[in-house]
Amino acid sequence: MNRTLYGNLIFELSKKGRKGYSLPQDYDRTHSTDELPAALRRSTAARLPECDELTVVRHYTNLSHNNFGVNDGFYPLGSCTMKYNPVINEEIAAMKAFAGLHPLQPAETCQGALEVYYNLQQSLAELAGLSEFTLNPCAGAHGELTGLMVIRAYHESRKDDARTKVLIPDSAHGTNPASAAVCGLEVVEVRSLADGTVDVGHLRELLAEIGPEVAAMMMTNPNTLGIFEPRVLEITKMVHEAGGLMYYDGANLNALLGECRPGDMGFDVMHINLHKTFSTPHGGGGPGSGPVGVRKGLEQFLPTPRVVMDNPDETSAPVFTIDFGKVSPSGDERGAATSLGSVGSFFGNFGVMLKAYAYILTLGHEHVKEVGPLATLNANYIKERLRDDYLLPIEGLCKHECVFDGLADKSTGVTTMDVAKRLLDYGYHAPTIYFPLLFHESLMIEPTENESKETIDAFIDVMHKIAEEAKSDPELVKTAPHNTPIGRVDDVLAAKHPVTTFWAAERDKASE
Ligand SMILES: *Cc1c(COP(=O)(O)O)cnc(C)c1O
Repeated sequence: MNRTLYGNLIFELSKKGRKGYSLPQDYDRTHSTDELPAALRRSTAARLPECDELTVVRHYTNLSHNNFGVNDGFYPLGSCTMKYNPVINEEIAAMKAFAGLHPLQPAETCQGALEVYYNLQQSLAELAGLSEFTLNPCAGAHGELTGLMVIRAYHESRKDDARTKVLIPDSAHGTNPASAAVCGLEVVEVRSLADGTVDVGHLRELLAEIGPEVAAMMMTNPNTLGIFEPRVLEITKMVHEAGGLMYYDGANLNALLGECRPGDMGFDVMHINLHKTFSTPHGGGGPGSGPVGVRKGLEQFLPTPRVVMDNPDETSAPVFTIDFGKVSPSGDERGAATSLGSVGSFFGNFGVMLKAYAYILTLGHEHVKEVGPLATLNANYIKERLRDDYLLPIEGLCKHECVFDGLADKSTGVTTMDVAKRLLDYGYHAPTIYFPLLFHESLMIEPTENESKETIDAFIDVMHKIAEEAKSDPELVKTAPHNTPIGRVDDVLAAKHPVTTFWAAERDKASE
């Protein structure tokens, strides 16, 4: 690719008066704006780039080549479960019969779609060991908020108003404390032991101190270090005895799929990231879905709309209807044991649900059981083969992901950031870095169940090669990447002073 020709911003390629279109000669320019009130109309033309079509096509085609996804190469981003999205899933989601539906059309005209929706609710409940699911939330974090709202509504319905605190392990994903705060609850941190699992002694102390104020404890299992919590049953029992509910962050469900179920471990409420566990390309703000499941006795608090089957007696064909729920009439009549109402627009991201349902059906009962064991095998294989060159802070079996604390040889000065950048030169997406926060040089690798041994071996070879380079030519690694369009960006500056439009950049330049 010729970066000097096509790598600029589209605004920089603009030439005054150049056109990439031609309108019909009798096109009436005034017509379309006539209907707008004068106050809403522009007084000056929008500052748009002026380019010929070929320049536009080349510009965007080349930009698209700078993207990296699972379809381009190995994408071992820990915690994110970037698994392959089979082509058939996309084909099903794009079918006109699904993609052309309108969320307001009458239920009797979209029975097939409602049946899929209903079946997915049921499948997730079965896989999770819970009673009922809502598919409305649009992401994992959205699911966390919804689930915590369910928990709050449950305590309020019992007039147990003192429960305003949420226990969260210090290894938790950042969205956990953020969701609790957005829900108006106070976060209390539970310490981890050196092996990354929950410090049950500390949890006991906290419960003795603030038990009656605990609304819930949030946990992911396996935790963000990929370690299964060996004392999970004891933990859920302790929190229940103190009157709190257990929330399961299902982002790591991939490790357990078909093997064991959060409901059986004692969790009351959970979310599943459909876009992690059940395919769908994600990241960069792509569409997601974070269904929330609850155990028996909490169903009435779930948000609406819900899809219900009206005649489950199996003697006649099933009829699916939309339940808009009995939302408290005043809207703020707190404490009523009724649905939360809506948490988003309509039913959520239906396309993601179709892909998830296709993934589940493709695997079937029999093969869904292989997901967790295969993902676990792949992660442990990488862990054992890299531990000579990379510092393994926690011994023993991991689940679907493994965490290193940077290179084993710290004398070279090569950091986890440098290793991640050098991987880009070799055509790999970097693993997750500097998370979890328990180690200074965290490097977290998640291969998923989809990758072949050849792909994983090639990645391992490159990781060894980079460890070798760190010793023989540390500057090469420290100044990586060398083969990408852009080297290292100043991400502190980007976060503190984001310049999001071309015109803002121009203005900044002029004022300097
Ligand atoms: C990804 C993730 C989340 C948040 O899910 P989103 O869909 O990105 O909102 C929460 N917890 C864990 C452990 C995760 O990995």
